[in-house]
Amino acid sequence: MPLPNWKIGRALGIPIHVHASWFVVFLFVTWTLATGYLPETLPGQSAPRYWGMGGIAALLLFLSVLLHELGHSYVALRYQIPIRQITLFIFGGMAHMGKEPPSPRAEFLIAMAGPLVSLLLGAGCLGGAMAVDALFAQSGVQGFAVLGGLLGMVNVQLGLFNLLPGFPLDGGRVLRAGLWAWNKDFNRATSQAALVGTGFGVVLGVIGATLMLGAWSGVLAPSLARNGGWLIFIGAFLFAAALASRRQSAMRASLASVTVRQVMVHRVVTLLPDMSVQDAVDQYFVAHGFGGFPVCEDGQVLGVVTVQDVQAVPTALWLWRRVREIMRPVSPAFCIPPDWSVMQAMERMVQGGWDRLVVMENGAIVGLITRSAIAQFLQLHKV
Ligand SMILES: [Zn+2]
Repeated sequence: MPLPNWKIGRALGIPIHVHASWFVVFLFVTWTLATGYLPETLPGQSAPRYWGMGGIAALLLFLSVLLHELGHSYVALRYQIPIRQITLFIFGGMAHMGKEPPSPRAEFLIAMAGPLVSLLLGAGCLGGAMAVDALFAQSGVQGFAVLGGLLGMVNVQLGLFNLLPGFPLDGGRVLRAGLWAWNKDFNRATSQAALVGTGFGVVLGVIGATLMLGAWSGVLAPSLARNGGWLIFIGAFLFAAALASRRQSAMRASLASVTVRQVMVHRVVTLLPDMSVQDAVDQYFVAHGFGGFPVCEDGQVLGVVTVQDVQAVPTALWLWRRVREIMRPVSPAFCIPPDWSVMQAMERMVQGGWDRLVVMENGAIVGLITRSAIAQFLQLHKV
């Protein structure tokens, strides 16, 4: 989503970001609690107190979602999967994993860790609330029991809802782990688990619509209309997310079956490191119209120069600077063999932050593969 998000801190070494949509949820939850739930369950308090408690509950809810995501992240880190960031947004949280789990077992454990944290937190809060209620029946601490009970319920719901076996929910990831272990095909397992996800999206939508119709026609309690609307909203979100995952896995499957040799540019133009930037611009960038060139000497790839690297040098210095001075040096990971799949090449590009890779065979450069060439290939083959 293109809306802004802010970094608010770090946990387990992972940057924590809050998406703008989360503030809508914060205000909505605070308002719902302060004007409805709290006055009903804890009557006789002042309005500022209800709003204060509502705000605290909303913040603790935020913390609960964060702990759920940290549960996933902790297990993922143990499997050497880097977590780029955790984002909290309108529907909860998301830990952005740097790569897919290495095995069905890893996928299963990572997926289960989040709901497990939520269910344990839920049980702890409910137990604490009951203990406070039983031990200190005086009105002064009843607020803690109400907040604890509320937080316990929300965490239990968070854990149970996420266990629904429709991808991309956690339960859907557990299902994918099972299918993956069964048919040994990651992309097929994703596609099947996502199909179940679209099914759950439709089911939630239908239940939501039934609740709304029932509430409007007077058969069900009027307060259920809001729950119905919320269920339709979540169902639509799950449906869309599952559909996107299905398309993505179809794309990945086709990219996994295409080799680098089929997509690469065969005519590779390279620059010499001691050439001036002016010559590189005149004889290569302008003449060929490419966005970047590998820099080579004696059959060795030393680095890469792109239009951006040239732009960073003032025009007046182009005659005096050499390509060697402005190129970005590359590691051996910049060179790949032609029989790799395009999927492997893309993963390598993402890891290194490159938008092109040199294809080498028997010590010689045989081609160049770029992000734009892959995008064009996908377009031409209507993937
Ligand atoms: Zn989760």
